Amino acid sequence: MNNDIGIYIHIPFCLQKCFYCDFNSYANKQELVEKYTFALCNEILKNAEILSQYKISTIYIGGGTPSYIDSKYIKQILDTLLLFVDKEYLKEVTIEVNPNSVTEEKLKVYKESGVNRLSIGLQSNHNDILKKIGRAHKIEEFEKALDLANKVGFTNISADLIYPLPDLDLNRFNETLDYILNLKDKNIKHISIYNLEIHENTKLKFLLDEGYVTLVDEDEEYEMYTALNKRFKEAGYNRYEISNYSIQGYESNHNLRYWNQSLYLGFGAGASSFFGGSRYRNENSIEKYISYLDKGISIIAEKEDLDLLSLMKEYVMLALRKIEGLDVTNFKSKYKKDVYELFSEELNSLINDGLLEKEGNYIHLTQRGLEVANLVWEKFV
Ligand code: SF4
Repeated sequence: MNNDIGIYIHIPFCLQKCFYCDFNSYANKQELVEKYTFALCNEILKNAEILSQYKISTIYIGGGTPSYIDSKYIKQILDTLLLFVDKEYLKEVTIEVNPNSVTEEKLKVYKESGVNRLSIGLQSNHNDILKKIGRAHKIEEFEKALDLANKVGFTNISADLIYPLPDLDLNRFNETLDYILNLKDKNIKHISIYNLEIHENTKLKFLLDEGYVTLVDEDEEYEMYTALNKRFKEAGYNRYEISNYSIQGYESNHNLRYWNQSLYLGFGAGASSFFGGSRYRNENSIEKYISYLDKGISIIAEKEDLDLLSLMKEYVMLALRKIEGLDVTNFKSKYKKDVYELFSEELNSLINDGLLEKEGNYIHLTQRGLEVANLVWEKFV
């Protein structure tokens, strides 16, 4: 159906700031949680007219650390959203949790409120590395959280990993792969494994620049990349997007919306939306978000209205993130144009360079293309 929509909810509170993080998240602002929840529910209700015209098919509660705040606030937000949900169409409700802040009680509240998928931030199975990147949890807490999630009855669990990391060499990375793959029978149905990005103004950038921590060289990182793809495939985790792997049928429906250029509305500070041919983002500051909503001032900080060509280019870039690639027929039925004619120069050059290939009705990245995907995106920017 084409009037379905995804909802993203942003919870910007964290216990502490991880050294690599440049998400819109804040430590030491817990006194704002209640007012923030009220403002967020208010934002949802202000969108009542739109929400009643669409069928919500996925909800994703991310952050920040949603499990850091009292679960009564998560329930309040979900109860507000559920006013607009036709349960028949709602496929997936995900919440991100951190191992050190999730409890059995919170998990039960999530489940009772309709959450059916958990995304747990693991990042590494080595306590010394977790400490070096400023994560607040230890591996023992991850194990406890996973056991609790299973006990409460969650059967669709995703774990997040990052590589490379300080003090992570190939041997230790292989231990990480052993570790995560051994948890398959604990309902880890999905693994996101992100390539570390080093952002300006983060503590990690400082530590690397000053030589306090180091990362492996490109060759060893490439061996990690090869090892993870081989091991995940052997273990039955199908790579379906550049950084995402799942047991068949457990792909993230919500994230697929992003790569399929489907509609979504984001609620909360810094949350982004794609709706009505525009991409827009709310104010990042929690204080401004609360006060603007209270005073009836617009909370939109940035908005871009995409023209048809930009939309089509964006569609190609997003679709090529998926391993199956771009469905040529879907492109035609959405934009009434032949993607090969429209982007013949770009596509032919990427095919000739061995970065893209045609397969049946699809165009997708080759193995080499997956390794240098940025070169492909550049053609469509
Ligand atoms: S828990 Fe996540 S959002 Fe919070 S600081 Fe760490 S990486 Fe950033």
